[in-house]
Amino acid sequence: MVNSTKKCLRCGQMKSVEEYEKDSRCSTGRRNVCRTCRNNLRRKRYLERFPPGKRRPRNHAKEAEYARGKRRRHIATYLASGARKRAKKKNIPFTLDQHMDALILRTKPMKCELTGIPLRMADGTRDYDSISMDRVSPEAGYTIENIRIVCWAINAAAGTWGLNKAMEIFRKIKE
Ligand SMILES: [Zn+2]
Repeated sequence: MVNSTKKCLRCGQMKSVEEYEKDSRCSTGRRNVCRTCRNNLRRKRYLERFPPGKRRPRNHAKEAEYARGKRRRHIATYLASGARKRAKKKNIPFTLDQHMDALILRTKPMKCELTGIPLRMADGTRDYDSISMDRVSPEAGYTIENIRIVCWAINAAAGTWGLNKAMEIFRKIKE
């Protein structure tokens, strides 16, 4: 095979192409610095940044906040992708991808905007309190002004009996 070996730009050794990480951004499809050299570089940079004994202390509050932010983005992305599919099927407008920050804020309370019940992210199967999205005006599309963050129970019930009747049922159950 031609080009089965190449010279590492760092250590200058001729090595098999397998010794170079794949990278589609490189013209050859592989890195020009071998794995060994790259690992050594990574280790060196890490030690420069965090010398032994000077490791950055973990900030648990910050890490928790980061995890929450990540989860919220995940929920917003999940809702938007479902809405995008339904909009395409129904041939109605979809502009939520331009308002993801607003959508993340809307999901932040994790509370049904109609019934007030706490919402959960569906893990596999949808439950009555799974987060879902519906449209205020069914004729209009999925725009940040026209969507509601609601529980699956009220969403499904409104689909069957209409929103007013569904809300009436919900109030009766709550009594
Ligand atoms: Zn090398």
